[in-house]
Amino acid sequence: MKGILRKLRLPVLILLLGLLSVPVSVAAPAEDPVPYVRVGLYWGDNALEGANLLNYAGSGYELGYFDGDRQFVPLMSTDEKAVSMLKDWTLYYVGGQYVSEASSDAVRVGCYHIRLGECGDYEEAASLAAEYEDGYTAWMNGKWYAFCGSYAGLASAEEAIAARDIYGSAMTASSRCVTVVATGTDKVIFQFDGGTENSLGVMPRPSEEGERPVTWFRGLKYYGGFQYTRRDGGDLTVVNFVTMDDYVCGVVPYEMSPSWPLEALKAQAVSARTYAAVHLGQHASYGFDLCNGTCCQAYRGVDVDAPVCEEAVRETSGVYMTYEGQFADTYYHSCDGGATENSENVFYEEIPYLRGVKDPYESLVTTGYESWSYVYTAEEITWILQQKGYNCARIVSITPTYTEMGNILSLKFTDRSGVSWSFSRSRASSILNSQTYGRIIHSQRFTVTDADSEQPDLFVNDAGSVGETQQLWAVDGSGHVQNVGEGGRVTVITASGTETVNVGGGSGGSVSADRYLVSGSGWGHNVGMSQYGAKAMAELGCGYEEILKFYYSGVDVG
Ligand SMILES: [Zn+2]
Repeated sequence: MKGILRKLRLPVLILLLGLLSVPVSVAAPAEDPVPYVRVGLYWGDNALEGANLLNYAGSGYELGYFDGDRQFVPLMSTDEKAVSMLKDWTLYYVGGQYVSEASSDAVRVGCYHIRLGECGDYEEAASLAAEYEDGYTAWMNGKWYAFCGSYAGLASAEEAIAARDIYGSAMTASSRCVTVVATGTDKVIFQFDGGTENSLGVMPRPSEEGERPVTWFRGLKYYGGFQYTRRDGGDLTVVNFVTMDDYVCGVVPYEMSPSWPLEALKAQAVSARTYAAVHLGQHASYGFDLCNGTCCQAYRGVDVDAPVCEEAVRETSGVYMTYEGQFADTYYHSCDGGATENSENVFYEEIPYLRGVKDPYESLVTTGYESWSYVYTAEEITWILQQKGYNCARIVSITPTYTEMGNILSLKFTDRSGVSWSFSRSRASSILNSQTYGRIIHSQRFTVTDADSEQPDLFVNDAGSVGETQQLWAVDGSGHVQNVGEGGRVTVITASGTETVNVGGGSGGSVSADRYLVSGSGWGHNVGMSQYGAKAMAELGCGYEEILKFYYSGVDVG
């Protein structure tokens, strides 16, 4: 990674400054140019009224905030292993969660509190709070306070002041306040209000035996710390603060099976790490870097049952893919079905290292997507186009064009009045998708032919005719001879052994039919690395660098 340090773009350099004081609890490898990642877990419409944490390996929590350099600043700590962060609202503990819907026999945490006084520091606030059985400390915009109680209304808080003979004042917190309670109780541990500047940070502590912290949150385990923000006074946006490597540990087992060879998992780890570096600002408006869904990369925290994925991440720690000194945008997909594709033929942008390559490896493993096909009637295609807003009469012909790699480039549909509609790139594959008919075009690698043709023209990709179609036979790797029947995928013998190829329309030509056969292979957008191809290469003994350099043309790995 050393070579890239002097070529980094500005935002990453700013991040680097944060490395100068690495906190003990989330130590990142010092050489990593992107040490920390903020992953959004719940936000927007999915923001939470209350969010629980439970130590899986750990001994309570430090409570504080993350500063502008993403460093955790502790304010106080708790030995409670199960804590819940709540928006300061009257909430009820129902079914293991705190919710605002009233429930008469549930534990209730009210949002009216008794302020006992402002204090000079935490110790003073803690000792004042300790005089009351329901006392607790609060940090609000840099000042310490002692509070007690949580009541459902101002009147009941005032009654309590009189009845308990407390010197204090009843009040409700601001719309940005977050209350930390012991889960399942109304026992308040801490309140935090950082205004618009700071959000509550929770950092799990190592276990008594010194194990690194792993924390349960909503059925999943996580490394690192958490941040809770009430955007515009609303529910909690929940963010997981992790090192880059811990983030990648939470991606790899969900993007690739832990049963696959280590070198394939390493290729996936470097791809996922580099993708994260490129897309770091994706959700900046919500206060985090990347989300946990497929819009960024699937991230589901720690998989303690996948130590091999962890090994793949640690052994490639600090390794990124770069092209001319910049992080490479590392698209990947499940399987290419025979060839990947130039980025501009699927998306729009021409990216120099995302070039189509014929893939001799993928067919050596079982993908489950070697061959898929659908027959569409002309009426079905007409209806699908109409449903998608195209005012067409009966479709009478389809004209496909193919790329040099033999993948689809465009589809032109012509109706009986002679009007045409053209769709290109990824739209050419998605236009034929139909929920109603249960059809999904799985990749960019497919052909469109006449389903009822007695003598369809057969081509090997764009290479020209292979002749006789009624009696087409193939020999597989074990020497078995098999009739391959109608179109789709055919295994042929090449100089390097057997190879599976697409059979179909070559460089196009209009197809007029009552029933159209759409026949393809592969699953995904065909750009960048084929994950099954990576598996096949690893099984052949290729290292992760070789795998990455095969699928990403001209990149540096290091
Ligand atoms: Zn996202």
